[in-house]
Amino acid sequence: MVEIRSVHKRFGSLDVLRGIDLSVRAGEVTVVLGPSGSGKSTLLRTINHLEKVDRGWISVDGTLIGYRRDGDKLYELREREVLRQRTRIGFVFQNFNLFPHLTVVENIIEAPVAALGRPKEEALATAERLLARVGLADKADAYPKQLSGGQQQRVAIARALALEPKLLLFDEPTSALDPELVGEVLDVIKDLALQGTTMIVVTHEIGFAREVADTVVFMDEGRIVEQGAPGDVLDRPRHERTRAFLSKVL
Ligand code: ATP
Ligand code: MG
Repeated sequence: MVEIRSVHKRFGSLDVLRGIDLSVRAGEVTVVLGPSGSGKSTLLRTINHLEKVDRGWISVDGTLIGYRRDGDKLYELREREVLRQRTRIGFVFQNFNLFPHLTVVENIIEAPVAALGRPKEEALATAERLLARVGLADKADAYPKQLSGGQQQRVAIARALALEPKLLLFDEPTSALDPELVGEVLDVIKDLALQGTTMIVVTHEIGFAREVADTVVFMDEGRIVEQGAPGDVLDRPRHERTRAFLSKVL
C-alpha cells in the first residue's frame, strides 16, 4: 500500500532523511518511534508531499506521490494534482489544527464539499456517522474552543476520515493532551486499526505500539535503525541506540 524507497531529504546543510526504505501493507499499522530531531515528522510530511524529497520516491496505493514517471525520468506534478493526491491521505497533527471559526460539523464537511465537490446533505450525513464513531454525536454544533483537547483530536480524526483516505498519518496525536485524555484518542485509533485502516503513527506511547502496531520502526538521525514486530523491536531490540531510546521512554 505504501512504498518508500531511498528517500533523502535535506534542509540546507542538514541531512534529515538519509535513505529511508519502508513498506506498509494494506490494513496494517506502523508505529514510528525515535528521538526528537530524528526525522519522524519530516518522513510523514514527505508521504503527502508537504515536503518534496530530494532523492528516492514514495507511492501510495500504486500512485507515485508528487511526481509523474515518464520512462526513467520523474516530473513534478502541478499543485492541483498534488492537492488531489493529498485528499486520499489523511493527516492528523499534534495540535489538532481545527478551523476555530467553524463548528465541529462544519470542520468535518469543509473538505468533502470544497475539495471533492460532495453534495452538502451527503457530507452532513457522513459527518454525523463519523461523529458517532468517535463518540461525539452530541458535539456537532460546538466550536473547537468549547471542547477538551481529547474531543478536539477526535474531531480531527473524524475530519480526516471524511475524505475516505486510503492511508491515515498521525504525528504524535496525543502528545499535546493532558494525560487523562490520551486514552480516549488512542481508543479511537485502536478502533480504526481493528477495522483495517492503513495507518502510520508517530507516537511515544509504547503501550499503544505494543498492542496495536503490526510493525514498529525505530528511527535515529534520519535512518531506520531497526524495524520489526513490536515484540522484537520493543522487547528484544538488536541495536544499542534502540535500547538506549527505549530505556528513556519506558
Ligand atoms: P520531534 O520528535 O521533536 O517531533 P522529529 O523526529 O519529528 O522530532 P523532524 O521534525 O522531522 O524531527 O526534524 C528533523 C530535523 O530537521 C530537525 O533537526 C529539524 O530541526 C529539521 N527541520 C525540520 N523541518 C525543517 C525545515 N522546514 N527547515 C529546516 N529544518 C527543518
Ligand atoms: Mg516531530
